[in-house]
Amino acid sequence: MTHEIYLDANATTAVLPAAMVAAQHAMAALYGNPSSSHSTGLVAKAMMESVRTRAARLLGAGQGDSAGRLLFVSGATEGIQTAVLSALVALRERRARGEAVGNLLLYGATDHKAVPESLAHWNDVLALGFEVHALPVGQDGRHDLDVLRALAPQAAMVCTMAANNETGVVSDIAGIERVLVEAQSRALWLVDCVQALGKLPLNLAATRIDYAPFSGHKLYAPKGIGLLYVRADSPFTPLMAGGGQEGGQRSGTENMAGIAALGAVLAALDEGHTFRTMAQLKGYRDSLVARLKQAFPAIVFNTPLDHALPTTINFSVPGLPSQTVLNLFDAGGIRVSSGSACSAAKAEPSFVLVAMNLPEWQTTSAVRLSFGPLVDDAFVAAACAAIDRCAEAARSSGLLTHQPTSHEAPDTDAPTMDGSPAPEMSPPDLQSFFTRHPTALLIDVRETYEHAAAEPWAVYGHVARNVPLSQLATMGQSILADRERALVLFCRSGNRSRKAAQWLLQAGHKRVWHVAGGLALAGPSGH
Ligand code: PLP
Repeated sequence: MTHEIYLDANATTAVLPAAMVAAQHAMAALYGNPSSSHSTGLVAKAMMESVRTRAARLLGAGQGDSAGRLLFVSGATEGIQTAVLSALVALRERRARGEAVGNLLLYGATDHKAVPESLAHWNDVLALGFEVHALPVGQDGRHDLDVLRALAPQAAMVCTMAANNETGVVSDIAGIERVLVEAQSRALWLVDCVQALGKLPLNLAATRIDYAPFSGHKLYAPKGIGLLYVRADSPFTPLMAGGGQEGGQRSGTENMAGIAALGAVLAALDEGHTFRTMAQLKGYRDSLVARLKQAFPAIVFNTPLDHALPTTINFSVPGLPSQTVLNLFDAGGIRVSSGSACSAAKAEPSFVLVAMNLPEWQTTSAVRLSFGPLVDDAFVAAACAAIDRCAEAARSSGLLTHQPTSHEAPDTDAPTMDGSPAPEMSPPDLQSFFTRHPTALLIDVRETYEHAAAEPWAVYGHVARNVPLSQLATMGQSILADRERALVLFCRSGNRSRKAAQWLLQAGHKRVWHVAGGLALAGPSGH
């Protein structure tokens, strides 16, 4: 059985076992509404406030007069909305008072889309007419501080990130702060700290940062819980009005299970026994980098390793488009991504690498491999072995020598076809189908290198044969010569097998099915 090597921690992580326990305890025992004044509510509220206190300490949110706010929100996207709305409303008031307010809303060119999209959205909704302007980065992925210095007098708001989700590049936050201070800028400053949590030291109140959003699911808490830090005295406007929860700053009954789980993760961070140290994480990264170099000698690293999170590696292999490597690795049990998870469905070059001005081939061949601070020796050893297996499959199937000329994913170089929907077979029906049709063929329509990287898949003794979608017209002639024979096609997601089934039906085959949802749902981890 293929063991899953999950190397996509920057997209999201599994939930820490202690966080699951804490969430369950919150649901079973601390179910009170933290706004209720009876004892059941008070107990729930005490848990919530203890998590807030711990978070405030860990993030350096300040004490006494300098204590910033720390709100529980649904995630970074909500935190970013709240920060942007707060800043823009304050800028509108400054303008109304006749104060000089710059005309630029600056954001880092490699910022997560949530930032520029929120700026554009609230600028439109509030009809403020600011110019949303990208602050360029250099080839090392760091903000161009000379451009920031030049634009600072016009900046009404500045948004930057602490660490980049695609490359792991750690921003020069102290340098940005120096530029803003020297320019005597009054710009409101948002720093997206999503990828920094648990990986970089934070002491927010000691900085000039006004807003800092966090997302729990990037560090072993569940999806749907996050934090927003707002500096003491920085402008604030609630995004959600209603029952007045969170001191009237974020209405809606709090996500108590999420807060409890986040609390367990923060406790683990605080106590220091659960997560690996930075030095250990660097050691793991070095092992993975060494193994990748050995497996793909022509590899180029897009992450400048000397100022990046030790948990993120971004690389390109000449001649291998991102999707090809993703498909190869996925077949071999390694889950990686080509960029941020939100844009994974689009086969476009990484805008982050484009902003870093890297050669086009690197931007279309980029692969991100990311892990979290829970990794251990056994995981890294298994990952290295899986990388070797994938590279061997790539070599044995000619992928590294006969380089594809197109940057298109094999998924899309299908024979053309129109129309008739292919009959689907749902994974639970496979076994009984093959019992009833012992001569049926099980066909893997993934590319040869994927088939080679994968553990052989068999249903009820029928071992899958490989006829790649891209070679259906040629290779299919021999293996699929008998048009009466029942065929069951599969791929990873059901996309390519659907296309292949349609094509075969049009070519005159009578009994063709494809596995709905693909191996992802039918394979070992799908059931
Ligand atoms: N900012 C960064 C740097 C991220 O990596 C992400 C997650 O993809 C977000 C913001 C948005 O986080 P969420 O989707 O949890 O709201």
